[in-house]
Amino acid sequence: MNGTLTIDNSFKYSFICYVAGIIHLVITVTFFSLNITPIYYYNMLATVFYLYMATVLVRKEKYIWIFMATITEVLFHSIFFSILMGWNWGFMTYVMSLIPIAFYLSLTLPQIRRQILSPMITGIFICTCFIITRVICDKTTPMYDGAASPAFITAGFCLNSAAAFVIVMFFSVLFSIEIRQMQRNLMHENETLDKIASHDPLTKLLNRRSMEVHLNHVMDIAKKTGSHFSLIMADIDDFKKVNDNYGHDVGDLVLIHVANIIKTQLRGNDHVCRWGGEEMLLLINNDGKIAAQVAERIRSALENSPITTKDGDKITVTMTFGVTGYIPGFNINKLIKITDENLYKGKRNGKNQVVS
Ligand code: GH3
Ligand code: MG
Ligand code: MG
Repeated sequence: MNGTLTIDNSFKYSFICYVAGIIHLVITVTFFSLNITPIYYYNMLATVFYLYMATVLVRKEKYIWIFMATITEVLFHSIFFSILMGWNWGFMTYVMSLIPIAFYLSLTLPQIRRQILSPMITGIFICTCFIITRVICDKTTPMYDGAASPAFITAGFCLNSAAAFVIVMFFSVLFSIEIRQMQRNLMHENETLDKIASHDPLTKLLNRRSMEVHLNHVMDIAKKTGSHFSLIMADIDDFKKVNDNYGHDVGDLVLIHVANIIKTQLRGNDHVCRWGGEEMLLLINNDGKIAAQVAERIRSALENSPITTKDGDKITVTMTFGVTGYIPGFNINKLIKITDENLYKGKRNGKNQVVS
């Protein structure tokens, strides 16, 4: 497992192989005590086989091989033992536990393409084997009938069934953990995508599209409740000169610097977006008078916060601001137009000022 609780394949497959190896070891010891040679030889071999898979094949990431080999071995083992020892030993309960395992592993192994069809076919095949084995057991006498007392057979049945139940429960828990983890990852990715889609990559301010959503929202509320909101359109003064004198990269740093200064001057329910190249639109949840004060605060903060380039140059940029409070009956485009006109009045009047 890693830090985010994702269970990686190497952990999962080594765990499966070690558990299968231990189960085979227990069966080896059991049948050694009953002196049934072919079965304990087979189980000894199976124990070594699972240990080999846990150590060598897991390291080589041959998960499909482990998957197929485990299903084949468990199926063969259960049928073979049921016919040799009798149905009452409960060896066939293991094959039922293969169905959730087949679904789980095929869903979590990217190499398996038909993630529903493959385990479904496996399930139908297992079911057919189960029924055929039951019929064979009914029609034949087990080769080692009488090798163990009825109480020993019942204990064997209980042990086999309990092991099969534990396997099913283990994979169900694993499935739940992984589904939860997937949901968490999806939520996290959605949040990241949302952020990418709604923010400007350079300044990390909202982009124009997501600001439009906020604008429509406050407009609706203002129409219904008569609440106040204001717009501030801010444009960096003589920004072309910054680009021309220091280069586009320094221009970008200045934009980030300006965005950060604006952000620090805003309250939680106010919004700012990058409206155009070096134009920011601010949505203030208050009337025009307060918005003009906010704009003045930003103007002054910017004027007093020069940015130092990596060459040691100090650049002071200023901004001009147009401000408009909500006017009942005016739509959002009209309000933006008035805000823009105020901004250009400020530009014509000598820049670095607030016009409302
Ligand atoms: P004014 O005071 O009248 O606003 O003058 P100005 O030089 O700022 O004029 P104008 O608005 O026409 O120029 C904006 C410049 O901003 C032009 C463009 O190259 C630059 N610009 C726009 N987006 C970016 C950007 O993402 N990075 C950089 N470095 N420059 C940008
Ligand atoms: Mg400008
Ligand atoms: Mg401009």
